[in-house]
Amino acid sequence: MKRKIICIICPRSCEMEAEVVDGAVNVTGFGCQRGKRYAEAECINPVRTVTSTVCVEGRAPLPVRTDKPVPKAKMFECMKEIAKVKALPPDLHMGDVILENICGTGANLIAAAGRMRNGN
Ligand code: SF4
Repeated sequence: MKRKIICIICPRSCEMEAEVVDGAVNVTGFGCQRGKRYAEAECINPVRTVTSTVCVEGRAPLPVRTDKPVPKAKMFECMKEIAKVKALPPDLHMGDVILENICGTGANLIAAAGRMRNGN
């Protein structure tokens, strides 16, 4: 069955159609090879960067994200792991690792905001 996929790689937002036939992905409507690869991945193993916040009592919420996309099917599991974080080091910098290899995805959860001082 054909499915419509709008490319999110660049602002041109090409409207593509993709169909899996005998294990191969047929893509039409792409403006470049990056978009074609995006459509293929969306059909076979869609991935997303997880963004969220870590809330620790007495501190401002810390924006976090994965340092690379994770399988879409693992996103809910990752969010549950993020919700379990109850402690943070006193001084954090953007890019510091909060959780390594979150949910076995190979991606690290990192701080997406800058320095935190005085417990905030
Ligand atoms: S297919 Fe290529 S040109 Fe079209 S939106 Fe995607 S990245 Fe941009």
